[in-house]
Amino acid sequence: MSINVSEAVREAKIMLEPVAQEEALQQAKIFVSTIAGIETSALTIHSEMVLAPEQLNDLGEMLNRRLQGEPLQYILGEWAFMGLPFYVDARALIPRQDTELLAETAIRFIRERGFGSCLDLCTGTGCVGISIAKLAGIRVTCSDISRDALSLAKENAELNEASVSFVESDLFDRIPDKFDLIVCNPPYLTLDDMQTMQKEVTFEPKLALYGGGDGLDVYREIAWEYEKHLSEKGMLLLEIGSTQAESAAALFSARTSVLNDLGGNPRVLIVEP
Ligand code: GLN
Repeated sequence: MSINVSEAVREAKIMLEPVAQEEALQQAKIFVSTIAGIETSALTIHSEMVLAPEQLNDLGEMLNRRLQGEPLQYILGEWAFMGLPFYVDARALIPRQDTELLAETAIRFIRERGFGSCLDLCTGTGCVGISIAKLAGIRVTCSDISRDALSLAKENAELNEASVSFVESDLFDRIPDKFDLIVCNPPYLTLDDMQTMQKEVTFEPKLALYGGGDGLDVYREIAWEYEKHLSEKGMLLLEIGSTQAESAAALFSARTSVLNDLGGNPRVLIVEP
């Protein structure tokens, strides 16, 4: 049985509908183009290209994993953040587009204020710290409590040839230094969020998601300690959940402001002592 690219997209879309709903077509295109070794934007030009039996086999395996609820990004093994490539797997949270606001804001302040050092706490895949190091051209320290996450972040630093160093640390516990800028996308889901989250999110590490009953546990710890680790005129940037702007800001006695993401939701809390 020979199947060409356009037939494969059509069939994959129908299979994916129960798990991917309105994203079924887009995900089908991503899987088929990956298997065919072409860009998603080139699918139409190559619509008549016949897929080899091994390619069909690989496509079937990918679709089966996706049908079990596994996120597309883990199945592909690589995902873009800030236009840079990152390996992704179950060792760390998948980079979200919303988090690009945190990285962009960090880069903007580094340029405007001439910040020379940056700490990325709870680095996970390393996507925030590595993007900052690459795009703002400063050295970044990336830290995480999870050894697994750090091993993935190290692979990503190599992939991007980024100038970053790594520390295994529970928040500030093993961070002796001061930094001009501290950025952090902490776990902030509430108990309620954890009980109602999409199947896909259950494949991601709980440690990277759960922020205690009200989602604010890690912000409380950061609020307690961050000032000791900021240089004079330093700044703290935190990703927040869309409903946490006021409750997270209330934990800090310093001046705070909030930036909204592309969806119009509060996403980044700026803390300036
Ligand atoms: N934004 C993620 C989600 O909605 C949560 C990430 C986090 O806790 N930092 O699943």
